[in-house]
Amino acid sequence: MTQDKKAKDYRNPLRGLHPSTAVIHAGYRARLSENSVKPPVFRTSTFEFESAADGARFFERAYHLPGDDGREPGLVYSRLNNPNIEIFEHKMVAAETDATHAAAFPSGMNAITTAILALVPQGGRVLYTDPVYGGTYFFLKHLCPQRFGIETVPVDTSDLRATEQALKAHGPFDMAYIETPANPTLTLTDIASVAALARRHSGPKTVVAVDNTFLGPVFQRPFACGADIVLYSATKFVGGHSDLVAGVALTNSDDMIRLLRDYRTILGGTLAPDTAWMLTRSLETLWVRMERQAEKASKVARALQGHPKIKQVAFPGLLDETDLPAYTTYKTQCSGPGSVIGFHLQHGTREAAFRFLDAVRLPHLAVSLGGTEALIEHPRSMTHSDMTPEDLDRCGITESLIRLSVGLESSDDIIQDLFRALDTIPDDGVEP
Ligand code: PLP
Repeated sequence: MTQDKKAKDYRNPLRGLHPSTAVIHAGYRARLSENSVKPPVFRTSTFEFESAADGARFFERAYHLPGDDGREPGLVYSRLNNPNIEIFEHKMVAAETDATHAAAFPSGMNAITTAILALVPQGGRVLYTDPVYGGTYFFLKHLCPQRFGIETVPVDTSDLRATEQALKAHGPFDMAYIETPANPTLTLTDIASVAALARRHSGPKTVVAVDNTFLGPVFQRPFACGADIVLYSATKFVGGHSDLVAGVALTNSDDMIRLLRDYRTILGGTLAPDTAWMLTRSLETLWVRMERQAEKASKVARALQGHPKIKQVAFPGLLDETDLPAYTTYKTQCSGPGSVIGFHLQHGTREAAFRFLDAVRLPHLAVSLGGTEALIEHPRSMTHSDMTPEDLDRCGITESLIRLSVGLESSDDIIQDLFRALDTIPDDGVEP
């Protein structure tokens, strides 16, 4: 292939290669940027048109005005697009092997809220996994019904019978919104079965959206299970270093990406070019990081499981034949366990949980997950504190639940530190 042809080929997601190779080589051609092997940062708000007619044509395309020939608009203004955002989006499509389009956002929440607003009509209905990340819960539980007239129904989507009942009782739904593994309980939902049930009871056009933040794209491929939209908090594993906030939505539908981009343009969810550049760099190590972190997390989870001060450990890699149907879902849907662990302390009080967390030295006592460093937090009082006490209790987000994100440190160092901190909880608990 000539250099010029290669340069025009930057949109090719390189499907013949393993995605870990494709993310490194897809989405960018040195030829288009002074042969710079790595992309420059296009720190500009706006782009010069070669002629007034070009400017008018680009707007016809970007705004779908009369005369729109359906082609890519070209670079106009960085709220609409920017080369660094495009490079990141093309690399995400290379990473998520069954996607055809990606739209980047300045946060995971912005990706999620824009996708729901773009794809669910006013007065529509959304069935959603119970529990989900606290911010998603707040949007679905409060803002959707109160502000946008969208009825939302939570259900434990890992329970197919309960899901079918909810679909029959409250449908038809415009969207089934799944988060799996669920944050923070690590509950697994069988995406293919929920998608099939949703389409059977609510019609073939029901949009199936999956928040794949905990496992994907390395360990879980929701499009292969029937998803229409895959969402990420790219703040987590995709960024991977706890040094940025970003989100991304992927789809294999031309209509849906058009809606997502149109809403993004008008709602103004613009990812900064510098952040897009950092994400592009992070993607090159995504497979190495996630695979290694999962190995380390597996060792930590096994060690925690045997500790007398711990009642229960939730980690997909610990599931076995006695945990049905979760084990079947894990074996058929996931190719690895990820590196987020939930565990319940024997002592069920907030005081015992806080005593333990304050004694931990190595993992940072901080929310978020998926970084190179271990992070530990108390979901009931932190990430999920915007849930009502009844909803927290129903989902098993108790005072004793701790969420740990395992980083790239030595697993032995992490285990030693956690065990030392567990020893600070007296055998008979901590007085309030
Ligand atoms: N989805 C999941 C599963 C999350 O854990 C989070 C954040 O913790 C989000 C979405 C929201 O992402 P962001 O914080 O990037 O807006």
